[in-house]
Amino acid sequence: MSEVLLAVTGLRKTFGGVVAVASMDLEIRRGEKIGLIGPNGSGKTTLINCIAGMLRPTAGQINFAGLNVTNLPAHSRARLGIGRTFQLPKPFFSLTLAENLMIPLEFCSDLAVPAMQEQARSTLRLLGLEHAGDAYAGSLTQVDLRKLELARAVVAGPRLLIADETMAGLSTSEVDEILEVLTALAANGITIILIEHIMRAILSFSERLVCLDAGRKIADGLPDGVMGHPDVERAYLGE
Ligand code: ADP
Ligand code: MG
Repeated sequence: MSEVLLAVTGLRKTFGGVVAVASMDLEIRRGEKIGLIGPNGSGKTTLINCIAGMLRPTAGQINFAGLNVTNLPAHSRARLGIGRTFQLPKPFFSLTLAENLMIPLEFCSDLAVPAMQEQARSTLRLLGLEHAGDAYAGSLTQVDLRKLELARAVVAGPRLLIADETMAGLSTSEVDEILEVLTALAANGITIILIEHIMRAILSFSERLVCLDAGRKIADGLPDGVMGHPDVERAYLGE
């Protein structure tokens, strides 16, 4: 088995009286393709905000690549190799795609400008956006906006990519386009956590599923086992 890339232990996050994540343990190994599922409000986004550093946990520890990152700010975690997309894409709409990719590169890499430009171009190619490098982000279709969001998350070469509902609202063929992109990123060696409600997409992508309900992990393992777990069925029926 490959080494542990991410280890979450005893993680808890409360908002006032709301327990969004309650005592969570989660271990992810290098190269895994993980699907993170669970009904609305089950704590998926809160968990990844704690992992990526947008939120400080109430209790618990997060180790990434052997380092305790629990108290590091988000930008330091990004430099260490945690990339993530946001549920609502927020690129700079008045910049071109290539310019949008220069921003994470300036924050997260030590490359010189020509190397950054080459990295931006090769990322656009990998994401199937090479035709649009000089287009303004504000002119993109929904599916290309999602690809740009993924490109921004991976351009600086993260070890872990967390994609939060990147496919919501897309058509069947657009979902397939994003799945193809995610598969290409995984083939490039990036460990991926995919949060998604579209079951067909989650099942086609994931080698392992983790299901949350009310801030707790209720199932973790091979997709068939998790989908057939009575607690998982109950969680979705209650939604
Ligand atoms: P999911 O992504 O699985 O839909 P969330 O992590 O967004 O779930 O939410 C988990 C719970 O935490 C929900 O009850 C939600 O209302 C609550 N929550 C999330 N973010 C906040 C916040 N910033 N302030 C207060 N409550 C929040
Ligand atoms: Mg969410």
